[in-house]
Amino acid sequence: MNVLTDQLNRPLKDLRISVIDRCNFRCPYCMPQAQYHQHYEFLKNEDWLRFDEIIRLTKIFTTLGVHKVRLTGGEPLLRPQLPELIQKLAQIQNIDDLALTTNGSLLETYAKELKTAGLQRLTISLDALNETTFLAMSGQKGSAQQVLRGIEKAQEIGFADIKINIVIKRGVNDQHFMDIIKYFRGTGIIVRFIEYMDVGTCNHWEQSQVVANKEIHTAIHQQFPLQALEANYFGEVAKRYAFADGRGEIGFISSVSQPFCSDCTRLRLSTDGKIYTCLFASEGVDLRTPLREGAADEELLQIIKNCWQKRSDQYSENRSLLRSLKSPRQKIEMYKIGG
Ligand code: SAM
Ligand code: SF4
Ligand code: SF4
Repeated sequence: MNVLTDQLNRPLKDLRISVIDRCNFRCPYCMPQAQYHQHYEFLKNEDWLRFDEIIRLTKIFTTLGVHKVRLTGGEPLLRPQLPELIQKLAQIQNIDDLALTTNGSLLETYAKELKTAGLQRLTISLDALNETTFLAMSGQKGSAQQVLRGIEKAQEIGFADIKINIVIKRGVNDQHFMDIIKYFRGTGIIVRFIEYMDVGTCNHWEQSQVVANKEIHTAIHQQFPLQALEANYFGEVAKRYAFADGRGEIGFISSVSQPFCSDCTRLRLSTDGKIYTCLFASEGVDLRTPLREGAADEELLQIIKNCWQKRSDQYSENRSLLRSLKSPRQKIEMYKIGG
């Protein structure tokens, strides 16, 4: 297979599929309640890509180099019959990594079905153990206990590769991350810190609310000495560290303080069938219309190829400049493309 590369010579390797644009949380950094209230109109069900459409597109993506697939949302576990989709994706040749990102609130219920369907890896977002802080981060939805029960269940039924994503927001949960470190040290579960990003248009992001991962690393290192680890593969976004006492590892995804656009090999497929080449993209390329109008695989492949070949995104490398522009760019919302 010829490697498909973009304008900055980055190959296409990973596909993130957003299976639903709805969520049962209202994390203020992603879907603030004030904007996503009870009368907000999400996509209609007929606008969602159907499973057969997702499978068809995914097969085409794999011919262009995709070998890792992550399901996300919104909250992916709200998509009816999700295990059916997983089962079909798991059968696609050339996909060697099939993962899901979830807020964990429904994991206790679905962990077994997900595993049986062939899901390989789980990433669970958990921003605090303290319930008051958890609620501040989730927009007053769910509970840390519920997420922890889901994680326990997932471990119990045999998910071996579980990661926790924690977003830190200064003044909200930055005093509580050590609880999470202590809780998961020695369990085989890897906690990864994600810097709070200026995704979308409604979280009122300010640089002062970002806690650089360096600060978190220093605090953890003082209590539990850390040693740097090699990346697992080219393009790994998390910088890995092992606890020097052998009780596992943690990771840092420093999209704001140390951007990694030069290694970015990810393409995102939205619930309504548009592809986005960057988390901060203004526009996507519609695949659903040609798909539903009867386009042949070769035509769809050509659209995807053109889109990737034109790609020159490196928003995070140019954040300050782009944010200082007089007319700020439109940005896709994170919950539509799933992070
Ligand atoms: N609902 C699922 C969840 O929360 O895990 C999947 C979708 S969510 C959009 C994917 C990831 O994006 C989560 O780990 C979430 O914490 C992260 N995220 C959302 N908004 C963010 C922001 N402004 N900065 C950094 N990460 C963010
Ligand atoms: Fe929902 Fe995930 Fe966004 Fe939180 S981060 S509002 S859980 S989609
Ligand atoms: Fe990739 Fe865009 Fe993030 Fe850079 S800013 S790492 S190009 S998604």
